Amino acid sequence: ATAPLGSSVISLVNRLQDIFSRVGSQSTIDLPQVAVVGSQSSGKSSVLEALVGRDFLPRGNDICTRRPLVLQLVQTKRKPDGSEEEYGEFLHLSGKRFYDFSEIRREIQAETDREAGGNKGVSDKQIRLKIFSPNVLDITLVDLPGITKVPVGDQPSDIEARIRTMIMSYIKTPTCLILAVTPANSDLANSDALQMAGVADPEGNRTIGVITKLDIMDRGTDARNLLLGKVIPLRLGYVGVVNRSQEDILMNRSIKDALVAEEKFFRSRPVYSGLADSCGVPQLAKKLNQILAQHIKAVLPGLRARISTSLVAVAKEHASYGEITESKAGQGALLLNILSKYSEAFSSMVEGKNEEMSTS
Ligand code: GDP
Ligand code: MG
Repeated sequence: ATAPLGSSVISLVNRLQDIFSRVGSQSTIDLPQVAVVGSQSSGKSSVLEALVGRDFLPRGNDICTRRPLVLQLVQTKRKPDGSEEEYGEFLHLSGKRFYDFSEIRREIQAETDREAGGNKGVSDKQIRLKIFSPNVLDITLVDLPGITKVPVGDQPSDIEARIRTMIMSYIKTPTCLILAVTPANSDLANSDALQMAGVADPEGNRTIGVITKLDIMDRGTDARNLLLGKVIPLRLGYVGVVNRSQEDILMNRSIKDALVAEEKFFRSRPVYSGLADSCGVPQLAKKLNQILAQHIKAVLPGLRARISTSLVAVAKEHASYGEITESKAGQGALLLNILSKYSEAFSSMVEGKNEEMSTS
């Protein structure tokens, strides 16, 4: 039941990059960053981890994320024998490959302590981690410390203002997609996530509402109206998720099991029937994939123009030597043709008609 981020867009981006390299131009699809905002322990790290589909982030019912973690996913080629290799590498330990993802988590914790101390201190100095895998899209995700109000441990008295400033420095970027995470067992009107996202993105063009902890709401309450946007409307809407509980973490429950349990949760509750589009991590991934596809579609005309220009330049150069340019031009025309086809394919994908996108 896994549907990690990027799964439906990867093959298209690959084919596009193929086209670019054939005309000798570098990959030029810069995908937007995705950052999470919300209160401490709202489930931000859990959501990111579920989207990536691997266990490697510190999570817990205390302040776990104490430095910004800039997570760059890097797509690698599958090995000739078809096997795949996934590993992580930290900027502060460059050259060292981590094949064991729980070791990555331990290193994030250790590196957090090195900079921010062992007593709940927070630092705005980034930890930079790259994950190399044939199964990911080249995209950057940012896990951020959550908003807290009362200083604890080594935290300074202005901890809340400091964390807000840190978060804002990421989410104010106009290309940053914001996952605004609010737990379902708190009042949406008090949501730090929606408040900050509203300041950074007042139009709501790049904010997705994520409601976590649907499984531990008060008896007799449900999140139906929240998910429908009837409480606080949000242009791109909301997705409700059920992540692993603290107990699940202690018992080492796998992401795969958690996704199965999440699906069962929604299936067994009539109040969420008819809301399939806004329920579950796979739906969140789908929503993000659609936004990414839309982004790619928006940059395609620019890419086409660039290819045309470079073809004209090549033709001119050849003409000045009096060479026959037909074959080169013919090849260029063919590529432009393919690119046009992609534009159409993307359009229908964005409109949700053909979301799996055949690549044949
Ligand atoms: P963050 O501080 O926002 O990054 O939150 P974490 O991802 O570290 O999660 C905080 C705590 O909430 C952990 O103990 C998680 O197991 C728990 N948690 C997160 N999401 C859910 C959920 O959907 N349901 C339940 N029951 N617990 C959750
Ligand atoms: Mg966290």
